[in-house]
Amino acid sequence: SRTLRIGLIAGDGIGKEVIPAGRRLLESLPSSLNLNFSFVDLPAGFETFKETGTALPEKTVETLKKECDGALFGAVSSPSTKVAGYSSPIVALRKRLDLYANVRPVKAIASARSPVDLVIVRENTEDLYVKDERTFDAPDGSGKVAEAIKRISEKASHRIATLAGDIALQRQKIRATGSVSSIHNRPLVTITHKSNVLSQTDGLFRETARKALAAPKFESVEVEEQIVDSMVYKLFRQPSAYDVIVAPNLYGDILSDGAAALVGSLGLVPSANVGDNFAMGEPCHGSAPDIEGQGIANPIATLRSVACMLEFMGEETAAAKIYAAVDGNLEEAKILSPDMGGKARTEEVLEDVLKRL
Ligand code: NAD
Ligand code: MN
Repeated sequence: SRTLRIGLIAGDGIGKEVIPAGRRLLESLPSSLNLNFSFVDLPAGFETFKETGTALPEKTVETLKKECDGALFGAVSSPSTKVAGYSSPIVALRKRLDLYANVRPVKAIASARSPVDLVIVRENTEDLYVKDERTFDAPDGSGKVAEAIKRISEKASHRIATLAGDIALQRQKIRATGSVSSIHNRPLVTITHKSNVLSQTDGLFRETARKALAAPKFESVEVEEQIVDSMVYKLFRQPSAYDVIVAPNLYGDILSDGAAALVGSLGLVPSANVGDNFAMGEPCHGSAPDIEGQGIANPIATLRSVACMLEFMGEETAAAKIYAAVDGNLEEAKILSPDMGGKARTEEVLEDVLKRL
């Protein structure tokens, strides 16, 4: 049997309601999986900032690095106006732990208007998000000009495309278990870019991704390309045309938030921040101050994030069980939280999913 130590960073607001549900899920996995878990609660977020002057205590980072095999991150609140000294702990964590990919599975169950079952793999370390910006006065005196560096490297493009290919192969494997719906009968990776305009930056991303996906292990993976703007159009017209989408940071950010809208509630959409040696599951929603403390937050985004984390820790069987249990709850559509039009509380949705494991 395997024992995994999981760091729990609940954060603010409903993070404190959904992360305990994630923990319960891990504790409730069938013993036939031979998995044991130990947990460590770690502070981060706006409340932590107000108490300690930092949103991400050094001890949180050190404990994750030294003791943990994986982590779950709930949500943090950001101050609505700029507060001196505050910076987002999730952005810092991704950097400190070298979590170079943000992986977002987007799935709508069978009864939905249009089938959606895809994964967006977003590069998480470079592109315009290197935040190398400057502002200066236009030489002709016509006002200010601001500019930013868009950095694309062969190394980052290669590893993100390789990860996308691995995920496509992985999905093919678990398709048989029913937890990936059979919209696609073979693995497909869509490379997204705008190299018709940005021939050097996006051109390098495109070329490198092509090369990475030409590796022999990806022989069974179909590879296509799509210019990002027409991709948005097609993604919303016909989401069933996609399996795995790989994109540089900015396009990936926009596509993945947009694709979440195809699902119906933010409370359903999971993600994982992935590096070579670490995975951190994270629901896509924020701290939801409007429903905080009421016990009605939808735990499904977190439960799916637990599965996502386990997948990247090599525990695909456990992950597939969780995905299937969640799908069962959604298909039956009886025990649903208010964001899904139901009346069930966080606890009740969790119990229904646990029952289906
Ligand atoms: P939000 O995701 O917190 O909420 C948007 C809407 O979706 C709200 O009406 C909320 O009630 C609902 N919702 C979200 N998750 C839900 C769930 N699990 N179950 C039921 N309903 C759910 O986004 P926001 O309101 O724009 O931001 C609130 C705070 O969260 C802000 O401080 C923001 O900065 C922060 N935020 C954090 C993250 C993160 O930690 N990754 C992401 C987005 C926003
Ligand atoms: Mn975003």
